Amino acid sequence: MSERFVPLLDARVRAVAAPAPGQIEAPAGRLTDQLRRPLHDLRVSVTDRCNFRCTYCMPKEVFGREHRFLPHSQLLSFEEIARLGRVFVAHGVEKIRITGGEPLLRKDLSRLVQMLAELRTAAGGELDLALTTNASLLARHAAALARAGLKRVTVSLDALDDEVFRRMNDVDFPVASVLEGIDAAADAGLPVKVNMVVQRGTNEHQILPMARFFRQRGHVLRMIEYMDVGTTNGWRLDQVVPAAQIVERIHAEMPLVALDANYPGEVARRWRYRDGGGEIGVVASVTQAFCRDCTRARLSIEGELYLCLFASQGYDLRSLLRAGASDAQLSTAIARIWSGRSDRYSELRGQRQAGAGAKVEMSYIGG
Ligand code: SAM
Repeated sequence: MSERFVPLLDARVRAVAAPAPGQIEAPAGRLTDQLRRPLHDLRVSVTDRCNFRCTYCMPKEVFGREHRFLPHSQLLSFEEIARLGRVFVAHGVEKIRITGGEPLLRKDLSRLVQMLAELRTAAGGELDLALTTNASLLARHAAALARAGLKRVTVSLDALDDEVFRRMNDVDFPVASVLEGIDAAADAGLPVKVNMVVQRGTNEHQILPMARFFRQRGHVLRMIEYMDVGTTNGWRLDQVVPAAQIVERIHAEMPLVALDANYPGEVARRWRYRDGGGEIGVVASVTQAFCRDCTRARLSIEGELYLCLFASQGYDLRSLLRAGASDAQLSTAIARIWSGRSDRYSELRGQRQAGAGAKVEMSYIGG
């Protein structure tokens, strides 16, 4: 077991240790952490594999032919994910996002979608069930995913210029195939948002073409500040284009009006075009950190619970699951972990202590 894990079965970790059998008092219902942040969203990474090698996420130099991905037995099974999902939902989670790696590389993903779509929120409603994908396999799977109960899709696309996009995904994948995936999802009735990571000197000149194109297509475009996730992408602050500059550029050509968040803790700041034609969002986790509103937990491919995208340690729920823990024990462990949460990495960026543990990679815990 790697040092990344906080072993919940280990009695030394008293703060989050699993309760002994017979002493279970699962705190039911909604949870808040030390900063009074509720648990609202769960992101589930279903594979560490990806068929892209985006230079800012899984650079080839690190994730090359020699890289060993995890064997299937290490991954949570769909049944394990759905079981944990049920416990999280009982604690107030209303939104689950399936991600990775590239989630559509996981065989038969629609089966997981169907299992999660059957869960009901604490209020008895349907879950907001979303998928983040590079869309390389979306045209093939969109209809089945929609039939299985998926509610919407976020597609990652960093440029419309084919040459720029091929360079960024670093596997020579064409823009046209991503657009086919987007169309297939829309045809299947799935609302589509498009995520663009903006990197200074790489694709910032694509901001306006992307905004024009997706406005015309009727899909929400969300531009994301390049973040210092993981340790392998060689992130530098001067490669970040601040969200305020992104908004200014678009506003100069297509005037924008600020919109309220759809719900507290929404990641993107929203804007609509003043003439009524569509919406954009910016995710400013570097220049305008939003830790105080963060309501997201992340479940890694191996079943560790991470409390922050920038965390260096997760809590090992898989061992609990595989040691035969009851739902009540799982529920108690999750409640204790969330209740103890106090992280706010992005707000403290720059104050990170030398010698702090290595941050986990995004492909491992999911974007
Ligand atoms: N493979 C899927 C995809 O491409 O959407 C899901 C996983 S990917 C890690 C999820 C999202 O994280 C993508 O939109 C990707 O662009 C974004 N991402 C990865 N590394 C990032 C970084 N350093 N800064 C900002 N966004 C990043």
